[in-house]
Amino acid sequence: MKFADRVENVSPSLTLKINSKAKLLMSEGKNIINMSAGEPDLDTPEIVKTKAKIAIDSGYTKYTTVSGIKPLKQAVAKRYEKKFGVDIPINSILVSSGAKHSIFNIVQTLCNPEDEVIIPSPYWVSYPEIVKLALAKPVFIDTSTTDYILSPDAFDAAITDKTKLLILNSPNNPTGVIYPESVKSEISKIVNKKGIYCISDEIYDELIYTDTEHRTMLDSPINRIIAINGVSKTFSMTGWRIGYTIASKEIIERATKLQAHSTSCASSISQYAALSALEEGAQFPKDMRREFDKRRKMVVELLTKIDGLTFPKPEGAFYVFFNVSKFYNAKIRNSVEMAEYLLDEYQIALVPGSAFGDDKSLRLSYTLPLKSLTEGIKRLSNGILNVRR
Ligand code: PMP
Repeated sequence: MKFADRVENVSPSLTLKINSKAKLLMSEGKNIINMSAGEPDLDTPEIVKTKAKIAIDSGYTKYTTVSGIKPLKQAVAKRYEKKFGVDIPINSILVSSGAKHSIFNIVQTLCNPEDEVIIPSPYWVSYPEIVKLALAKPVFIDTSTTDYILSPDAFDAAITDKTKLLILNSPNNPTGVIYPESVKSEISKIVNKKGIYCISDEIYDELIYTDTEHRTMLDSPINRIIAINGVSKTFSMTGWRIGYTIASKEIIERATKLQAHSTSCASSISQYAALSALEEGAQFPKDMRREFDKRRKMVVELLTKIDGLTFPKPEGAFYVFFNVSKFYNAKIRNSVEMAEYLLDEYQIALVPGSAFGDDKSLRLSYTLPLKSLTEGIKRLSNGILNVRR
């Protein structure tokens, strides 16, 4: 049987692989501490669940307009207006089935086969695969030598006449790093000067723990920057599948055409749930941020005590990305082998850095109660110590 090259060329998700192995071991009764998840552990806000039930009972169970229900798009525009002072016309918004789908639509809308897409590495797992599915070519720029921030000079130098797009993510998965506004503005200038486009993945913009400034990269009027956001992380709604794109009218028109012939629209019930989250859920991200910040501080403190581990200071999202390459040896030669060793021998699940294009590191999610995190890091410390011996 011959399958399509575009699918055969996609790499299997290492994140899901380690997660399913952890779940299998858990089902066998092993006491696994799973620090590999990419989603908040908190439940979706009660009001959101109630409003979703009301939507069902009120019969909002049919196709919606392709680009999303008007009140949801208005709530998205209002959020960006209130948070960042940017004016967003309704026809610059497209609601899709999760932020991943939003990014997929945009890459399909902008890229022709062989076009180049610049991706700073380490990167979120799905970016390169989404680019490959559009038959375009991911071009990576290693940021581990520049404090995990894409250097505008390196970006400028990587642009060729085939470059179509840059994908930037701040606050960042997997590093937790937040880009300085000055760097973002330099990058924007280069994007405009070279006539390319930039996806600014702003999905973690409510999960910022320091007073580091974060603004949307969108220009006013909207031009070459495309903002991606959603409710998955902000309101702990990963399973509801609602993300949104904010871009120029021309881009949104075309991405909407694509969505019309693929998913028709995002789930009507989830759209009403997302509307209630944006309109009535403001307290939730504040509480989540307070809780996650406690965990972040503790995790950073404990990891700092492990001799030989290094990591960029996590200021946002819910991850720490630490370098374990000092502990590689003849048996544990890379991040996958390190993650497998820690899972098999110490019952902790972490994601190998190779999933994010950095084979020297592991990603820890602090989406677990403090007690589990303390125990998890104790096991990590023992595991690392025993490798060294
Ligand atoms: N971008 C980044 C950086 C993410 O970490 C994730 C989720 N892991 C997404 C996009 C996708 O979010 P969604 O669940 O809304 O598709």
